[in-house]
Amino acid sequence: MQELTNDYLVEAIEDSRPFASSGNVNMIIPEYDETIRDYLGVTIITTDGECFAAGDNDKFIPMQSTSKIIGLMLALQDFGKERVFQTVGMEPMGDFFNSISQLESYDTSKPFNPMINAGAIAVSALIKGQTVDKRFNRYMDFLRKVTNNEQLEMSEEVYEAEKANGARNRSLAYFMQSTGTLVTDVEEALDLYFRMNSVMMCCHDFARVGLFLAKGGLDLETGEKLIPSHHLRTVKAIMMTSGMYNSSGHYAVEAGFPCKSGVSGSIIGSSPGRMGIGVVGPAIDKKGNSTAGGALIKKLSQDLELNMFGIENTERKNEDGI
Ligand code: GLN
Repeated sequence: MQELTNDYLVEAIEDSRPFASSGNVNMIIPEYDETIRDYLGVTIITTDGECFAAGDNDKFIPMQSTSKIIGLMLALQDFGKERVFQTVGMEPMGDFFNSISQLESYDTSKPFNPMINAGAIAVSALIKGQTVDKRFNRYMDFLRKVTNNEQLEMSEEVYEAEKANGARNRSLAYFMQSTGTLVTDVEEALDLYFRMNSVMMCCHDFARVGLFLAKGGLDLETGEKLIPSHHLRTVKAIMMTSGMYNSSGHYAVEAGFPCKSGVSGSIIGSSPGRMGIGVVGPAIDKKGNSTAGGALIKKLSQDLELNMFGIENTERKNEDGI
């Protein structure tokens, strides 16, 4: 097995960076343009507390859909698994992440899963708080504890762009109101969703979220358990089956550990018991996943033997007579 070092990560970044050329930068995001197409950065934090980083790991980008796992954790805390999955399904979906037709095809009363836009908007309606401000503050408090980063903030520019380009998400939300899936204030659910998407993070912050999932949901500074293990299991299983949208099957095979991507080119990876991985690579494919970042995740899985279904590791060891 490859030893995890900063030098190894530098090499892995250079191997994966060329894959950026097959993707496109999402121009809706402020400050996103052709000049950042080839950016690629990674941070890995092991459950032993070692930290490795390479490439453009200091670049701050919006969370976009990686926020969906934080939102799901809060909704699970607030309402429990049964109630959350009465509102949203837990099945993977073959359509694009912002698909409308799926809202009629699967189950007229709920979206497929919490990792697609409709599902995440329905989940954001389940985050408790009297006002959107209070609900978003709870989100930020939780995220700052998980990442141990008090400095995290939402970008006003990104938030404005999300609202200005939110026609599809509004359609999804109002459709869900018409079917009775969204019973609370639609505009509030959308506003919270737009804000959660607009929080700026770098590779270290994304890696900390992955580490949080990999290491039992603890506040690593205080040792406090922030979320029960049964909710973590649920979140990781949903990431595995739906976190990379309609490429999730591919990533289950080729990476083999829970991941969540966002259209900013962010990826959170969580190798249970081993490490959290944060990747930034702004060029994305048609399905919304970072092309260079995805290549890097798959390479890391192979080289560091992160595939949870890694029976082949045992077989190879046996061949070696170990
Ligand atoms: N802001 C994006 C949207 O709502 C987030 C989706 C994503 O990252 N896939 O369309």
